[in-house]
Amino acid sequence: MNYQVLAALVAWIGGGLMSAHAASFPGGTADLIYTGGDIVTMNDKQASVEALAVKDGKILAVGERKAIEGQHKGAKTKVVDLRGKTLLPGFIDAHSHYYSSLSVANQVNVYAPPAGPGKDPASIVAELVKFRDKNKIPKGTVIQAYGYDENVMPNGRLLNRDDLDKAFPHNPVLVGHVSMHGAVMNSAALRKWNITAETKTPPGGVIVRKPGTSEPYGLALMQRAAKGGGYIIDVIAYPFITELEAVLKANPVSGWGKYDNRLKIGGVKITIDGSPQGRTAFFTKPYLTGGPGGEKDWKGELAAPQETVNKAVKAVYDLGVPLNLHANGDGAIDAFFTAHESAAAGDLSRDRHVTMIHAQFTRKDQIDKFVQYKVTPSFYTLHTFYFAEAHINNRGREQAMYISPMRDAIDKGLKPTNHTDFYVAPLDQTFMLWTAVNRISRGGAVIGADQRITALEGLRAMTINAARQHREDDSKGSLEPGKRADLVILDKNPLKVKPMAIKDIKVFETIKDGKTVYKRGA
Ligand SMILES: [Zn+2]
Repeated sequence: MNYQVLAALVAWIGGGLMSAHAASFPGGTADLIYTGGDIVTMNDKQASVEALAVKDGKILAVGERKAIEGQHKGAKTKVVDLRGKTLLPGFIDAHSHYYSSLSVANQVNVYAPPAGPGKDPASIVAELVKFRDKNKIPKGTVIQAYGYDENVMPNGRLLNRDDLDKAFPHNPVLVGHVSMHGAVMNSAALRKWNITAETKTPPGGVIVRKPGTSEPYGLALMQRAAKGGGYIIDVIAYPFITELEAVLKANPVSGWGKYDNRLKIGGVKITIDGSPQGRTAFFTKPYLTGGPGGEKDWKGELAAPQETVNKAVKAVYDLGVPLNLHANGDGAIDAFFTAHESAAAGDLSRDRHVTMIHAQFTRKDQIDKFVQYKVTPSFYTLHTFYFAEAHINNRGREQAMYISPMRDAIDKGLKPTNHTDFYVAPLDQTFMLWTAVNRISRGGAVIGADQRITALEGLRAMTINAARQHREDDSKGSLEPGKRADLVILDKNPLKVKPMAIKDIKVFETIKDGKTVYKRGA
């Protein structure tokens, strides 16, 4: 049988899904060929190539330019000249707050530099005024900002109500704190939400539910958006353990792990402690600065008793779905290992697709347990820049220097990922890479030079390792034939610039399934 006949047969079996391009089977004519710049594959067997061919949203071939063009270039193939830019697999965020990030899309960014203009109260007010005037916000309409960080305000002079009142007598203004757990408001906002000196502090948090049901509003809305074709990239949802019963009712586990209109349920999230900068992460040794309420000998607390953590972990293991477990302090990390030893008794080393989100204050001796129990740490190296000074104050130098120990994890054979946690930290992937490679704080101090990793290792943590974490390394994370054409074009090659220059690399273009979704300046 010759190839033409075979191609016709395949086209017929495929019910017409195969295009006329299949005539050149087995080569296939590409829709696109990228060439003319560095192409970094993240596939160790073929680390860099000259050209990459795309067909029907997937990578058709990679290799030498001559061979790729010879075999895959047809009359309709578009050849994209990278003009010296660098092509890489699309970046995958190992953990961020997608749903919350939607709410800040229409808000003012007042992050502290370099992520935003919020270096002092005056700059924040100026940015809010600029936003109001540019968008012609009418009187009475709420203006919201996100990313306020009081830690960087000069001389401890914080943003206050009076600053906002002067500039905004007629608009309620709410400036959200970078932790996502607080805000500064003006008088109009306090009036609008009826907050007075008599208002009691509300206990705990609130879960917003779909009216009249117990269904978590967030996942249902995400699914509605997906059905309407609202997603231009893939989104993976990890519903909270507290919502598990309701989620399972509406979404049987048989449908998990599969994309439906670019949305998939990836597994379950369990949170067992808080944040180290908020002094709510759980440690085995006390904070140097006491508790958030002035408590002495404060070590933080587990979010639930150990027995409850054990049961929650077992429930996820019994379902057989991936687990994303939030733990920051070494005490919380121990508590997870205890839960694992209880829930996975008799078979401690089976890969259950467990990712520990943050794992920031991992102790050196805990790394062996990550290896033994096949738990992937998803580290958070952005803290070496944004929160290092707070960690030194709260936890002392030795522990602060060892946050997100990428080097030791990789050297022990783990495949750690790195995440932005957006919008606790800015969604800036090249800056995240810079922090993993350089580990330099906002104040300019080196934070654990011995835990620095190479740019290639840093890229792995946001491509192939992140794909593996989400169980998608067969279709994403590296540039190999058959994988999705999810790509990013950077203006410079992170493997070639000086480590300190990585933060200045700009994303030029992003491509999902072979289609451009973002182009700088376009
Ligand atoms: Zn988070």
